Amino acid sequence: MKEVRKGMLVVISGPSGTGKGTLCNRLLHNDTSLRFSVSVTTRARREGEIDGVHYHFISEQKYDELLKQDCFLEHATVHGHRYGTLEAPVDEGIEKGHNILLDIDPQGAISVMDKRPDCVSIFILPPSYEALRVRLHTRNTDDPEEIKRRLKNARGEVEKLSRYQYAVVNDDLQMAYEKLSHIISAEKQRTNRYFPTIEDF
Ligand code: ADP
Ligand code: 5GP
Repeated sequence: MKEVRKGMLVVISGPSGTGKGTLCNRLLHNDTSLRFSVSVTTRARREGEIDGVHYHFISEQKYDELLKQDCFLEHATVHGHRYGTLEAPVDEGIEKGHNILLDIDPQGAISVMDKRPDCVSIFILPPSYEALRVRLHTRNTDDPEEIKRRLKNARGEVEKLSRYQYAVVNDDLQMAYEKLSHIISAEKQRTNRYFPTIEDF
């Protein structure tokens, strides 16, 4: 049996604090076919974040240069900061047969869906806005003003839900992880990216 697989793009979005990062880390830990797409951002680095691992933290000037050189698969201003996905590393990963995980906002996600219609798009919902508020405060990475801004933006983001192929509510973390994992497993078996050949007699 010979198996050839084309890599796929998995786009994950959802309001800030809904648990995307937590779920992505679990997926990356348990599925060696997945690679995280490290975005560039002009926002300040949070404590514990590593440049080149969580984001490429860059200046506004460098961001403008990348824009001018047309280096982005997608880019957007989110909660007042600029973020973008570099196209070259995504394409290199897919060419190698990896499945590339993008944790990006709905503006960027919709651009990717338009540009790469074969991508897999998944929206992560919180069980309630109150749970979202609690999670953002418990995470303790953003000041109260930033949390207020993120909560306010959450409603507009959820309105984009119907653009996505899949929705997963992150209430119980393990259950949400399992649902995500099943979606990715099924998507890997699609015949437009999975080419098994069985041996003859
Ligand atoms: P995002 O990446 O979407 O902004 P995070 O992954 O940083 O969100 O999660 C926000 C906070 O919520 C973190 O403190 C995380 O530990 C917590 N969290 C994630 N999933 C759950 C869950 N199912 N139940 C309770 N807390 C959760
Ligand atoms: P945070 O600042 O909490 O890391 O991320 C804030 C938001 O920006 C999240 O919704 C996250 O998904 C989104 N984001 C992160 N990287 C990118 C990116 O490259 N492009 C877009 N469009 N959004 C991104």
